[in-house]
Amino acid sequence: MACICGKCNDNPFDNAMKDMDKAAKVAGISSLELDVLRKPKRTFIFTFPVRMDDGSVRYLEGYRIQYNDARGPTKGGIRFHPDVDIDEVKALSFWMALKCAVVDIPYGGAKGGVAFNPKECSSGEIERVSRGYIRAVHKFIGADVDIPAPDVYTNSQVMAWMLDEYETIYGKHSPGVITGKPVEIGGSKGRDYATSMGGAYVLRSMKDITGDNPTVAVQGFGNVGLNIARILSSWGYKIVAVSDSKGGVYSADGLDIAKVISCKRIERTVTRLSGAKKITNEQLLELEVDVLIPSALENQITGDNADKVKAKIILEMANGPVTFEADKILHKNKVIVVPDILANAGGVTVSYFEWVQNRRGNYWSEDKVLSMLEKVMANAFTDVRKWAGAFKTDYRTAAYIVAIKKILAAEKMR
Ligand code: NAD
Repeated sequence: MACICGKCNDNPFDNAMKDMDKAAKVAGISSLELDVLRKPKRTFIFTFPVRMDDGSVRYLEGYRIQYNDARGPTKGGIRFHPDVDIDEVKALSFWMALKCAVVDIPYGGAKGGVAFNPKECSSGEIERVSRGYIRAVHKFIGADVDIPAPDVYTNSQVMAWMLDEYETIYGKHSPGVITGKPVEIGGSKGRDYATSMGGAYVLRSMKDITGDNPTVAVQGFGNVGLNIARILSSWGYKIVAVSDSKGGVYSADGLDIAKVISCKRIERTVTRLSGAKKITNEQLLELEVDVLIPSALENQITGDNADKVKAKIILEMANGPVTFEADKILHKNKVIVVPDILANAGGVTVSYFEWVQNRRGNYWSEDKVLSMLEKVMANAFTDVRKWAGAFKTDYRTAAYIVAIKKILAAEKMR
């Protein structure tokens, strides 16, 4: 099967299935019971035309996969990236189903994407891609059916265009069909940094391992990476390295995150930061730090480099950054991996809060959103830690067990 990252042969969906089989073996779940989770329930692959600024028309390939809806309407982001393909979307939609079950919100899992490079497009072109995507899938999404949200290289502005297109087609307001919207049109306070806040809450619960002022390296400096660096730095954690797609920067004394954010905004990359040492993304992953936070794409820590990781904890803020092979090596080396389906579930949790607010027409304060998010993340972490202890297994396997059991129970009741 095709590699999605161009760097290795790890297929993220195959890896996800291996993780599921491992968890099922530990928990004594039969292979027959798992059949319902081996394939997506619905897969949409479509092409749609987009008029470019020079007047030409490009036909883009889009995807939407609704993996499992036993626990509620399906939920998951839309990614705009040149490497998007069906295997990636399949893995991401499966992880969404597990993630919603881990944090116990009443959703199934979905994911979508368009294979193109938004970095080479104007804002007008990105708007036309966003609207074209919705014209292609509008019959198959809905507040009670399937609810998209942002992901890599999509943001609240993209969600606003998508919502507007959907509402134009149906001739009525339907804010609950999309989350991660701007607050002005029904978004939730706190949603823009909820994924990072959720991960930060989980990490704070691991003070017994990290100590009080741990050193941290963050790979990826977009919505998730930037916000977790900002939050942890404000709590006194020392962020010694950050990176984006162009490379990274390092300072043993800790980076001034406000300066890094301003450099990223002005120069469009963190690599132009003055007073810090330039490093590569590969070097960042191998730094001697307490906590490593991959916040970019899949397959960053693989069988090839896992042995070189020196961090005590890997907090998976990206989806699928550690491969199945890498996991085995990290476990052997006593590196604790907090899995994506727990670590980055804060985003979908606040998306759920947004959807609840949209349906009630009643909006919450940021403090209320954050205190509810903290409770959800703390409960999920306690649950995963409890099962990891009970089965004497790693956190990923425990999180898979928690999720699979809930989904299969819902399937059984149906
Ligand atoms: P984003 O588009 O805002 O940022 C992505 C960042 O990754 C950018 O800084 C980009 O430069 C960097 N990047 C891209 N390729 C890289 C590479 N090869 N090496 C290092 N950095 C690279 O995306 P995001 O929303 O921050 O999402 C990041 C990850 O978090 C993805 O795996 C996504 O699925 C996951 N995630 C996001 C959310 C959310 O709410 N946005 C929720 C859950 C999980």
